[in-house]
Amino acid sequence: MSKRDYYEVLGVQTNASEAEIKKAYRRLAMKYHPDRNPDDKEAEASFKEAKEAYEVLADSQKRAAYDQFGHAGVDPSMGGGGGAHAGGFGDMFGDIFGDIFGGGRRGGQQNRGNDLRYNLDLSLEDAIKGTEVKIRIPVMATCKTCHGSGAKAGSTPETCSTCGGHGQVRMQQGFFSVQQTCPQCRGSGKIIKDPCKDCHGQGRIKEQKTLSVKIPAGVDEGDQVRLAGEGEAAAGGGQSGDLYVVVRLKPHPIFQREDTNLYCEMPVSFSTLALGGEIEIPTLDGRASLKIPHGTQTDKVFRLRGKGVRNVRSSQLGDLYCKLVVETPVNLSKEQKELLEAFDLSMKEGGKRHSPKESSWTDKIKTFLDDIVS
Ligand SMILES: [Zn+2]
Ligand SMILES: [Zn+2]
Repeated sequence: MSKRDYYEVLGVQTNASEAEIKKAYRRLAMKYHPDRNPDDKEAEASFKEAKEAYEVLADSQKRAAYDQFGHAGVDPSMGGGGGAHAGGFGDMFGDIFGDIFGGGRRGGQQNRGNDLRYNLDLSLEDAIKGTEVKIRIPVMATCKTCHGSGAKAGSTPETCSTCGGHGQVRMQQGFFSVQQTCPQCRGSGKIIKDPCKDCHGQGRIKEQKTLSVKIPAGVDEGDQVRLAGEGEAAAGGGQSGDLYVVVRLKPHPIFQREDTNLYCEMPVSFSTLALGGEIEIPTLDGRASLKIPHGTQTDKVFRLRGKGVRNVRSSQLGDLYCKLVVETPVNLSKEQKELLEAFDLSMKEGGKRHSPKESSWTDKIKTFLDDIVS
């Protein structure tokens, strides 16, 4: 069997970046990993194929050789280059194979429908708390009229006489004998003389279907929920593929998320930071109050334990980090300006002791300038 193009295997453009290649491989490796597909020869083959493609395209030297010479440039049997074998990448992907969403894939079959991918945009709140969503997806469903055979009721498809039902034919091309998809039956091995009028002999028809999907609490960007058998129907009445619902997080106006931790920024007035006090900050459970000690500098980060996100796999609970940022007052009245000027004057009389950062800064600048002069 001839090898598929490595870029095609990973489903990336030939000018794909390293990150894109890694991402594509990661997705395929998750999908086809033997741990998730026990006793599935087809998945194992796909896994090896993806691994081999990744090992070449992730290595800039090998990739250059491949770009120039194709498979001959990087053939492992020509020396160098690792062979393709399953396993051995636990370090790289570690814990993501827990298949938290349950349900092993059924045994591999030759005639299996395509897997489908559905990108689900979720708000941060829904991802954190879990939700149930209804999605509409276009699918190729088995034609009900002919039950997938593609032949009109009362008739059956005939074995293709050109390829004898194999779907492949051997062609002579110069010195080589090449195997090609049978042009007569386009690889199906069958000829339908009297096609079903609903599906035009395809055995499948395009349909919209609505599915209800449970999203577990704590999912993060890129997490997948697999719905077994909800992918495309196979041509000729085989096993349907799976549907992968892939989570994408919408940006949140207040919080940024990193794994199980949340980050936010709170503008605070200069006087509150200087005098100390209590402010209200947002958390996922509503408002929480935060005590600020007097003399707090801007950019100070406060950590609220357990106010982050619960990990969907480990159930560990993250923290909320809140950064206080001083806000310079604007639109001052004449009276306020006078108060500030008076305040500023009294600060200058007090000397450096009011400004710890400025005084050490001034010292550094002085030393710096002295060094230039000497
Ligand atoms: Zn039909
Ligand atoms: Zn044929």
